[in-house]
Amino acid sequence: MRKNIVAGNWKMNNDLAETQELLSHIKLQWVKEPKAEVIVAPSYISLYNTFQSLKDTPIKVAAQNMHFAENGAYTGEVSGKMLKSVGVDTVIIGHSERRAYFNETDEVLAKKVTSAISQEMTVIFCFGEELKDRKSDNHFELVKEQLENGLFHISKDDWKNVVLAYEPVWAIGTGETASPEQAQEMHAYVRKLVADKFDELTASQVSILYGGSVKPNNAKEIFVKEDVDGGLIGGASLNAVDFLTIVNSFE
Ligand code: 13P
Repeated sequence: MRKNIVAGNWKMNNDLAETQELLSHIKLQWVKEPKAEVIVAPSYISLYNTFQSLKDTPIKVAAQNMHFAENGAYTGEVSGKMLKSVGVDTVIIGHSERRAYFNETDEVLAKKVTSAISQEMTVIFCFGEELKDRKSDNHFELVKEQLENGLFHISKDDWKNVVLAYEPVWAIGTGETASPEQAQEMHAYVRKLVADKFDELTASQVSILYGGSVKPNNAKEIFVKEDVDGGLIGGASLNAVDFLTIVNSFE
């Protein structure tokens, strides 16, 4: 059985004190035995503190990005080795904001994936089309390219350390979600791509999260879909009550 996962991507929000406050609210509101694995992804600056604060809880900590090199002359960058040194072994790679604002190409993302996997980190690999791709009915092709170019060079065995996150760009931070049917359709398509390229077992075991304006009032109808195994949550993950309501939105 594959895992349900709800991950909060805090993006460039919350300084250290605000992060600590949010963490204390999450711990206060925490429900025993949630039906999903829970991950939070604060900014680099708060990773060490967050890991320390959550050490005795089941909540995992992820970074929002990493560089592919282990070290070197890459001013302003952070490596997987550095993340691991503060306890973080999960990383989001390929978020649409990284692709759009920081020019991260499929080629660069493929290198990041290789680096993270070789360091036995878990990769949350993001992909998704822009509105123009959906309007021109090119969304399946685009997603296929993103996966083939950025991720599918890994081996079958590496999939145990991969989580997929479908995030249609037009639904991120816009209040407009993909309908549960649109999410299901893309997730089933992606699972089939994995089955065709690798095998059925691998495809059936990988968790595929949906991201894009998931809120407490729509999480249930999205998560109930067969191929949707949870969510990658932006805005709503900045509020402990909203985030944990989403965590508890599985049947
Ligand atoms: P929102 O939930 O704010 O739309 O953001 C989604 C997202 O980008 C998560 O990575």
